[in-house]
Amino acid sequence: MGIGARERRDRLERFEELCREAGVPCTIQRRALLEAVLDREDHPTAHQVLEAVRARIRGISRATVHRNLETLVEMGVITKTCHPGGVIRYDARIDIHHHLVCLRCNSIADIDDENLDSLELPDTSAFGFKVSDFRVQLRGVCRECRRKDSKKRNRSK
Ligand SMILES: [Zn+2]
Ligand SMILES: [Zn+2]
Repeated sequence: MGIGARERRDRLERFEELCREAGVPCTIQRRALLEAVLDREDHPTAHQVLEAVRARIRGISRATVHRNLETLVEMGVITKTCHPGGVIRYDARIDIHHHLVCLRCNSIADIDDENLDSLELPDTSAFGFKVSDFRVQLRGVCRECRRKDSKKRNRSK
């Protein structure tokens, strides 16, 4: 599920607070990019975010979008997620949740599950690795793609 109106407002306020604390200018561009990510549930690519803000911010460049999305990730107001298509995807949710990843169309959908949240993680100290959080990726074929498959099958009968 995406985020509600109230959380959306809280998140924007939190962003402004963080900007003040970190001395990062809370520009109209950054705010618009954050809103664009918060308004989508499909884990958009930087390109999709660019398309979404283009009407609001004339002449915004691809480089500006990339740079500012990275800044938002560093600030912890959005997250970056798995990218089966080889492209970075951005996620409005910063809490622990998991993903259904379609290997055909590269769609990513959120799934909340208590059992997955409480998975016992292995000891990674031998790798010198410190785990901060985790996401489980359930990989497979989404409903849309399966529907297309069954249509194809029906046609060829
Ligand atoms: Zn799919
Ligand atoms: Zn997600």
